[in-house]
Amino acid sequence: MAIATINPATGELLKTFEPLNDAEIATKIDLAQQTFEQYRKTNFESRSLWMKSCAEILEQEKAEFAKLMTLEMGKPFKAALGEVEKCALVCQYYAENAADFLADVPVKTDASHSFVRYQPLGIILAVMPWNFPFWQVFRFVAPALMAGNVGLLKHASNVPQCALAIEEIIKRAGFPIGVFQTLLIGASQVANLIADERVKAATLTGSEAAGASLAQAAGKQIKKTVLELGGSDPFIVLESADLETAASFATTARMLNNGQSCIAAKRFIVVDAIADKFEQLLLEKFAVLKVGDPMHPDTDLGPLATPDLVKELDQQVQTTVKEGAKLLIGGHPLSDRPGNFYPPTIITEIPPGSFAEQEEFFGPVALLFRVPDIDAAIKVANSTPFGLGASAWTTNDQERDRLIEEIEAGAVFINGMVKSDPRLPFGGIKRSGYGRELSIQGIQEFVNVKTVWVK
Ligand code: NAP
Repeated sequence: MAIATINPATGELLKTFEPLNDAEIATKIDLAQQTFEQYRKTNFESRSLWMKSCAEILEQEKAEFAKLMTLEMGKPFKAALGEVEKCALVCQYYAENAADFLADVPVKTDASHSFVRYQPLGIILAVMPWNFPFWQVFRFVAPALMAGNVGLLKHASNVPQCALAIEEIIKRAGFPIGVFQTLLIGASQVANLIADERVKAATLTGSEAAGASLAQAAGKQIKKTVLELGGSDPFIVLESADLETAASFATTARMLNNGQSCIAAKRFIVVDAIADKFEQLLLEKFAVLKVGDPMHPDTDLGPLATPDLVKELDQQVQTTVKEGAKLLIGGHPLSDRPGNFYPPTIITEIPPGSFAEQEEFFGPVALLFRVPDIDAAIKVANSTPFGLGASAWTTNDQERDRLIEEIEAGAVFINGMVKSDPRLPFGGIKRSGYGRELSIQGIQEFVNVKTVWVK
């Protein structure tokens, strides 16, 4: 994929970038390594001041950064503003908590004293997707830098200006030059980077294919990886749920980021007793969503990020319909305008065994499944290769406890939509990946957990 800014709302090519060559990459790795040797000796107080300064820059200039995101990948501007605010929050969170999270932990043994010490590893490579161009990067940067590591970013090829803006923010915040660098490179250049012995570990958020490829390259070098991959999160609605609230959240949870979020609710699993009512409510809510210019404050749903995403999503929808499913609303790309627009879509009566039960639909398409009871709901929820998040709606305590216990996912939200929060670990199981971001678990992923034993 060319490294370029193409406005998804108009299709206009705005700027292109040449990928770095091998010599330029080598210079950046040299700088990162030299910086690490000094940076690892800085204390938490200094890192914390720089990290808080990042938070201030993000807060003060949020409109400008939000505009850049909307321009490059099409998310509604109001959502982009919220994303920048959340980045400021994660910087603030790790600035305040990193020292506690990484403090020595005494352990009683046969030694005079023994303890666990957390130490930075060195250069960490982050391969990131375009869908949350700032948030995905900052939730890596804040813990990694606070732990004393340095970062190299290979961002998605369609958000180069966001990638450069983030590097600039970190420089302006006062971090030593070289602590965080953006590499404008293609995906094919990643394996060589991992092979460099100074790059100690890698994290990737993106598709299964990209994750598998990075993990393979890292595996050959015996290097740790964290993978945050796709999801097909269930949204379960049981009989006792407040249907109006559930349908509102269902709409928000599906349309989040123009439908392109790993933790968007994708499969709506509804018990028969309330299925007609829920379906009607969902239909009403989808029907009034405003599709259009993502910069406009009234827009609910902007364009998909690239024309390929529209093509792929449409193929998935058409295949599901050919298998015998029924379209309730939407179901075809909006060809009456330029840009990558796909309308709010609901598919019902999906036949058992359909590939829609197994695949991630990365766009504003809700898949509706009717089930007789909670047993069937849990079975359907767990029947995908993914295990990222799950949202379930019930006011019955026994049902709640079963859902918490039996759903196979990295997160279960009861009577709320799945969301990331700096205070809570985030990540998946099964083919949604491994490792955790955010919270204390996130900062402990890329450190040497050193055992110290003294007699
Ligand atoms: P993608 O194609 O996998 O791209 C993600 C990143 O990986 C980009 O920087 C991409 O670079 C790079 N990449 C692609 N192939 C690679 C390879 N073989 N080796 C190394 N790097 C490679 O992902 P996407 O389709 O744009 O993003 C959507 C996917 O990400 C969805 O499946 C979504 O669910 C998932 N996601 C997961 C989370 C989570 O936290 N679990 C969060 C957000 C998104 P180029 O752009 O240059 O190809």
